[in-house]
Amino acid sequence: MGKQEAFVLRALEERDVRFVRLWFTDVLGSLKSVSIAPAELEGAFAEGIGFDGSSIEGFARVHEADMLAKPDPSTFQILPWRGETPATARMFCDIQLPDGTPSFADPRHVLKRAMQKAADMGFTYYTHPEIEFYLFKGKPEAGGRPVPVDDSGYFDHTAQGGGGQDFRREVITMLESMGISVEFSHHEAGPGQQEIDLRYADALSMADNIMTFRTVVREVALNNNKWASFMPKPFTEHPGSGMHTHVSLFEGDENAFYEAGAEYQLSGTGRAFIAGVLRHSAEIAAVTNQWVNSYKRLAGGGEAPSYICWGHNNRSALVRVPMYKPHKSGSARVEHRGIDAASNPYLAFALLLAAGLKGIEEGYDLPPETEDDVWSLSERERKALGIPSLPRNLDEAVRIMEGSDLVAETLGEHVFDFFLRNKRQEWQDYRTQVTQFEIDKLMPIV
Ligand code: GLU
Ligand code: MG
Ligand code: MG
Repeated sequence: MGKQEAFVLRALEERDVRFVRLWFTDVLGSLKSVSIAPAELEGAFAEGIGFDGSSIEGFARVHEADMLAKPDPSTFQILPWRGETPATARMFCDIQLPDGTPSFADPRHVLKRAMQKAADMGFTYYTHPEIEFYLFKGKPEAGGRPVPVDDSGYFDHTAQGGGGQDFRREVITMLESMGISVEFSHHEAGPGQQEIDLRYADALSMADNIMTFRTVVREVALNNNKWASFMPKPFTEHPGSGMHTHVSLFEGDENAFYEAGAEYQLSGTGRAFIAGVLRHSAEIAAVTNQWVNSYKRLAGGGEAPSYICWGHNNRSALVRVPMYKPHKSGSARVEHRGIDAASNPYLAFALLLAAGLKGIEEGYDLPPETEDDVWSLSERERKALGIPSLPRNLDEAVRIMEGSDLVAETLGEHVFDFFLRNKRQEWQDYRTQVTQFEIDKLMPIV
């Protein structure tokens, strides 16, 4: 048994842990959990806990249903919302096949494999997400409209009534007690809309952190008789919720995107990374924006990107090089504004990395930056500037992904095929729906 496993077994006794939850994530990004008694943990470290993969979204081929969940001891944390004693703890798991090899269906493995490729090129991969979500008064009834907790807007100091501020404080306290550092938090532009930004970490820890974050936000909301949702675009008339992700690559202790004196302090590696992300962003969109609803955010203004271009401090661009702080020498990062918080963070981060690394490997040239507000340009002007559109809906995104070698290689054949099948079905279900929009528009006139 390794040192970390021994540490966890000791912590179980010291903290009076009675339940150990083993967490993993399905292909669409839902958290799965199985609870085991502390006495089972030593066996789980050695051999994993068996489960039926065919009952997990996207996991098993019918003839290979048996899978093992093997806890990663470095992710051991007490769940603060379950109380102190007896305590409940959790660990994220790696999923294995019965012969001990990594499961082809495990999103965590997809990200590990992509990060290994980066490591082979000498890079470690860090991300830092700005997570937006709406807070509602309660869970909306089926067919009903969700009611936001307040009427405030961007950076508003909510004095009373809604309780968004107390809510964020409670969430942040819990996250920090679980070792997840928070950098900023504020009210976002929509009524009841919140944003919490996590301090950067390596992308695997961050994807784990995001899964924890969503759980904590939902738990705290429920405890306060509220309802939180990461749905990308819950209202036609208000901004959607994104998960802008800041990315950097390090070579040892050095930020590989930084070059003193270069334009925006951005190195050639940083420029090629952005070029890769731009060139492949339409291919990876079905994963970074995986729901029918995701495309309503991307089309609906509210500072969400619709076009594939980059800019320095340009909030209409898909990729932004944020303003640098001259006193922070050595720092440079790239912000992807497309990705939303209803994506699977393991898969989305893996594809963002793969796209950027492709740009570095192939030495892609970075197209000129866009200084204009791309939303206000005409279709013709955008064409003349060579600024393509992101996919306009899930159907278009899936069709572009189908032809992508980069996505197929990065996700692996199984996840790639499952994902396409699942998303084609979602589109099929959606496109036969008659909406209120059509009824309101057509009934009076035809
Ligand atoms: N809510 C916007 C989005 O959907 C982002 C607003 C912001 O710039 O933070 O991407
Ligand atoms: Mg924001
Ligand atoms: Mg941002």
